[in-house]
Amino acid sequence: MTLIVKEILAKTILSKSKIYPYVVNPYTGCQHGCSYCYVRFMKRVTGHTEPWGEFVDVKVNAAELLRQEITKKKRERVWVSGVCDPYQPLEEKYRLTRQCLEILARNTWPVIIQTRSPLVLRDIDILREARDFEVGFSVTTADDTIRKLFEPGAPPINDRIQALDELHKAGIRTYAMVAPVLPGAEGLAALLKGKVDYVLIDRMNYHYADQVYRKYGLEDKRADDYFFRIQQEFTDL
Ligand code: SF4
Repeated sequence: MTLIVKEILAKTILSKSKIYPYVVNPYTGCQHGCSYCYVRFMKRVTGHTEPWGEFVDVKVNAAELLRQEITKKKRERVWVSGVCDPYQPLEEKYRLTRQCLEILARNTWPVIIQTRSPLVLRDIDILREARDFEVGFSVTTADDTIRKLFEPGAPPINDRIQALDELHKAGIRTYAMVAPVLPGAEGLAALLKGKVDYVLIDRMNYHYADQVYRKYGLEDKRADDYFFRIQQEFTDL
């Protein structure tokens, strides 16, 4: 797969969000390229013609902008991130997420991090010191074979669960985003038990990955009874 990386100067970084008061997206595009990703609308918004997962714009001035913008806005929770994974592989080199978190922590802004990557552990020093930070992992199945079908570019499921465990043991508030529930999610509740403070669960609500379900004969795992069975496992814990 080709990856087209472009370094850009963003106009703004601390944006209003419908989910949390603010969102910071240090990157446009996401190397994880999940088959069901609903934020692929960013392609249209940003004028990209490459397939989703094959382009990333790196906002190299993210930290500089954030430093200025937090002085002008009211302190409220910031979601890192909404339309990209803030710990996609390029973050190892660019460290933009780390720089933004440092600024938010230093200024005591509350933060909710959402990722699929154990690279977040690199920044555990910031997470430990921050006053009101929490870290969530999207964990959509317990079966890594299924993960490879739907999220081929994202880290293995076990690595995410181990990272949650490590963060939780370090005293950092953690959550699991089990959304969308993918096939093979049986037993996931038990794997997450004791590693998260709370779980958010939701079904597959969009159709981008329909061809993956069809190709592998997994359509029954989109049915209500499958979702309710998985949901019940979390309720029973
Ligand atoms: S990690 Fe999130 S933003 Fe990235 S492709 Fe997957 S669903 Fe989309």
